[in-house]
Amino acid sequence: MSEKQLLVNGGYPLHTFEDLEELFYPYINNKESRELIEKAYQFAKKHHEGQKRKSGEDYIHHLLEVCYILASLQVGPETIVAGFLHDVVEDTNVPLEEINHLFGEDVCKIVDSLTRLQRMKLSHREDDDFEAEDHRKIFLGMARDVRVIIIKLADRLHNMRTLAALAPHRQQALSNETLNVFAPIAHRLGINTIKSELEDLSLKYLEPDKYETISNLLDKKTRHRTKSLDTLKKRVAGILLENNIPFQIESRVKSIYSLYKKIYLKGYNFDDIFDVLAIRVVTENELNCYETLGIIHATFKPIPGRFKDFIAVPKANMYQSLHTAIVSGDGNIYEIQIRTKQMNEIAETGIAAHWRYKEGTNYSSKEEQKQIEEKLHWFRDLVNLSNEEDLGAKEYMESLAKDIFEANVYVFTPKGKVIDLPQGSTPIDFAYRVHTKVGESAIGALVNGSLVSLSTILKTGDVVEIRTSSSSKGPNEGWLKIVNTNLARSNIKKFLAKKTAALLKDERVAKGRQSALDAFKDRGVNEEEMMELLSSHKVLNHYNVKEVDDLFLAMFNKNPTPAAVINYLRIKRKPIVFKLDKPGPTKSEDKSAVYVKGAGKVAINLGTCCTPIPGDDIVGFVTRGKGITVHRVNCPNIAQDKARLIDVFWKEDNLLETYPVDIKIESADRPNLLIDIMSAFSAHKVSVSTITAKLHPQTFKTTISATIFVSDAKRLLDIFNILLNVNSVYEVTRVIH
Ligand code: MN
Repeated sequence: MSEKQLLVNGGYPLHTFEDLEELFYPYINNKESRELIEKAYQFAKKHHEGQKRKSGEDYIHHLLEVCYILASLQVGPETIVAGFLHDVVEDTNVPLEEINHLFGEDVCKIVDSLTRLQRMKLSHREDDDFEAEDHRKIFLGMARDVRVIIIKLADRLHNMRTLAALAPHRQQALSNETLNVFAPIAHRLGINTIKSELEDLSLKYLEPDKYETISNLLDKKTRHRTKSLDTLKKRVAGILLENNIPFQIESRVKSIYSLYKKIYLKGYNFDDIFDVLAIRVVTENELNCYETLGIIHATFKPIPGRFKDFIAVPKANMYQSLHTAIVSGDGNIYEIQIRTKQMNEIAETGIAAHWRYKEGTNYSSKEEQKQIEEKLHWFRDLVNLSNEEDLGAKEYMESLAKDIFEANVYVFTPKGKVIDLPQGSTPIDFAYRVHTKVGESAIGALVNGSLVSLSTILKTGDVVEIRTSSSSKGPNEGWLKIVNTNLARSNIKKFLAKKTAALLKDERVAKGRQSALDAFKDRGVNEEEMMELLSSHKVLNHYNVKEVDDLFLAMFNKNPTPAAVINYLRIKRKPIVFKLDKPGPTKSEDKSAVYVKGAGKVAINLGTCCTPIPGDDIVGFVTRGKGITVHRVNCPNIAQDKARLIDVFWKEDNLLETYPVDIKIESADRPNLLIDIMSAFSAHKVSVSTITAKLHPQTFKTTISATIFVSDAKRLLDIFNILLNVNSVYEVTRVIH
């Protein structure tokens, strides 16, 4: 054969349309569907007539091979049809309308997406940023319909098989893209057969020497071990037969790329990798899997720490299997995988096995998309991420690479749902992955039942529960240092930006309100009267605003000015009258901030157990001989004796007083924590009478107890929010003794 001939189809056998028919006839029986596929084939053949691939063969062979790959995944007829037509619009100027007319809207949409992807590649530049934007669009296009991804993967696989025909710089570029973008996608979709082949082919072009070395070592080892492996297979078959367990045994060789990673990236010695060869037992049902495992462990010596149960805990790409490693009779170590037939199909073709074309059922691409997003939560993240418009192209690719492709820590929600996160993720990353709302109201986290700081690094197997609070002020700057996923980071940034904008608005409203108040006071109108005047429908309607704050905002912008509003309200300047203050009850007569309706002179004390403050819901408790003690209504100390409860009320005019409140601050331990909390108190003029800190060395958590003085519940809430914004503080509560 000449060199040119060797290049044809990358040296792979060429498939004919009849070969393809052999593949899809068993699962596509419908006459119209079969005819539509044939029509697409003829249509593509006619329009690509005369075009050649770089590898020498007629263009139609590329399309036949792509469809052959597709049909071996048992995809539906539309997907095969679109496979034939995927280059026809771009390369032969057939208008999309014609595709729509001849093959229907569904096929047309897929072809349209694929054409857009193709066009982006043509406008390719060497610029880094552009490539990122390129990829983002690829994912956006693909994320809307999983069939587009599958066709794109089949297309890429065939292009990689025939890569030898391209110039070296194109080989490098395509291999890089394949390894970094397409193989991870295939992996995440669980399509392992395609993933492995894409990886091996990329490696062949990117690291030809290393590829060669490993491939030789592998050959040698396989030859060396064939006898030993056969013996093991026979023994396993024998004991399974004895125990009446249905089975099939296959052997498996580790892929070149996975060995490359172990040797060159993780530093293993080839001879120390003992799962290069493995056997796989495929049986009927789950119970059979565990029975098989039991029998194998009873017969051979299992290697400690090598048993993994992916049946009980499937991988994020739906992979299920039992893995164990044993020492065979001749002292060699082998990995053994045990799974059902269905699990085996999913292990090889992933998503494609799950949504394998079933004739006669009403196919709905929307329904399929929904199911995929439910089943593969990362896919939903991919769709969401692709729709994030304010994420820059580079940031998008980074998020994709980190949050989705590198996710290899699997943790659980309390309900057992698996959440996959990249290494180094914290409960905040987890919370944002569950839902943005959960992230924004997170105040603490329980990992495996114990309270941990929000900066704890999560490990595979952790059960994570997020504590949320509606009074949480939301994320703060400090969180940006704790989080690891781009999803959490971009959401926190967004939240902080919104908060800043809102704060600015609040400030403007306050300033507008003050300028209005100054002007109204000048006319002898007090604040209460002003609010009443301005809140009237007549005024709000006149200035076309919804609420009085909007009017203040408008006044801040001097549109209208306060003077104009006063003018509109026809408020005349009042003559100034000097009044003598009426002597009211003095402090010495009545110190209490609380009164009891109709009660005469009775001693009233605030409970020291729950330290009520104005604004709290309170109740009085009649004590023997000591008058009335005021408690918060939810204080457990009064729950016993309801008969002695009495209604009490806060006085309206106790604004100047402050009251002691006992609070507890939970934080991750860190240097200078107490100093930062004290300076937060002093910056906001909070008096503190006692403060103590207690470190819990096992959880690296610190509890700070303090008694502070506040005027009322609203002020206390402000202080809570101030404290929650102190770095590493995650919870603040009031204490009831
Ligand atoms: Mn193509």
